[in-house]
Amino acid sequence: MSRFFSTLFLLMSLSLSQIIYSHGETPPNDGKFTVVLDAGHGGHDPGNLGNGFKEKDIALKIVLQVGAILEKDPNINVIYTRKDDSFVDLYVRGKIANEAKADLFVSVHCNSHNSSAHGTETFVLGLHANKRNFEVAKNENSVIYLEDDYEVNYAGYDINSPESFIGLTIMQEEFLDNSILLAKSIQDNFTGKLKRVDRGVKQAGFIVLHQTFMPSVLVETGFLTYKPEGSYLNSSKGKSDMATSIADAVLKYKHSVDENIGDDFSFEVKDHTSHASNTTATNSSDGVDTVEGVTFRVQIAAGSSAIETKSYNFKGLSPISREKEGNIYRYYYGEVASYESVKELQQKAKKKGYGTSFIVAFKNGEKVKVKSVLNSM
Ligand SMILES: [Zn+2]
Repeated sequence: MSRFFSTLFLLMSLSLSQIIYSHGETPPNDGKFTVVLDAGHGGHDPGNLGNGFKEKDIALKIVLQVGAILEKDPNINVIYTRKDDSFVDLYVRGKIANEAKADLFVSVHCNSHNSSAHGTETFVLGLHANKRNFEVAKNENSVIYLEDDYEVNYAGYDINSPESFIGLTIMQEEFLDNSILLAKSIQDNFTGKLKRVDRGVKQAGFIVLHQTFMPSVLVETGFLTYKPEGSYLNSSKGKSDMATSIADAVLKYKHSVDENIGDDFSFEVKDHTSHASNTTATNSSDGVDTVEGVTFRVQIAAGSSAIETKSYNFKGLSPISREKEGNIYRYYYGEVASYESVKELQQKAKKKGYGTSFIVAFKNGEKVKVKSVLNSM
């Protein structure tokens, strides 16, 4: 079962990446940090209507305020999936983010339940840990039935079956750590500053999160079905509180990511120049970019299901190896001693559609930092 869906996912990701890479018009982001803000629902999809409050309107107003705060930062580029009361297909929302090469995707919603449940929760894509998480995802996913051609655009999804999402989460798992970082920060602001009831950071199979290739979260700002919370969210204070908390969390997230980007960038430049001088100095000598006992591989995917390491499961790439770490399987392409060769393999993987693949190093079978290997060359 899960292998079928894994294979299905790989096929789907292939066609998705073709959509992304064949589309020539990528909006320039000037190297800025790009945030895509997604107000849930819209147009003929009102979202939930608990106590007569309209999810689509509340979500939009929160999102526009988040955007207004973020736009004040000249280093941030804000893109909206909708800025008015229009209907946007779920897969189009992801496509907007992918084409913008966004650094973050934040989807804003309001919850509903036929009980007095209340509080805020922020989701990252993953397997439904329990029935309740699945129901939240199912409610939000059901919008696909309002879209034209949903059978074509969402082939393979069965929103009534939690299992249909198993194996469909490989791409997002690569961004899981970062998605959780942002989700936690949002929840911390909701509960710390605003004293909202904390339902925590959770995982579930949201279609809209599955479509994006960057860290992504879905914020359930509260339950419209619980009247005190619905009234709060519908008030201007409630919306502005929520917007300020989300924007602040995005800024904190950007700050922590910036520190890493700075590192990587100088490392890339350094590596490039030192390597160029190596090649000119030694002129095609083999030994310069290898270290005794160290091999390099290209990590192309990670996921919770064990996929057979056949080339047809990995867009024709071979050889593929698989290693299990905790609950996650990591998939690697190739294994070579030379850093120059592994960079060629990485280029090949990228051309096949594994745009976010990266190089890893192993010393005597143990994973080691690529940076430290390069420093010892
Ligand atoms: Zn919603």
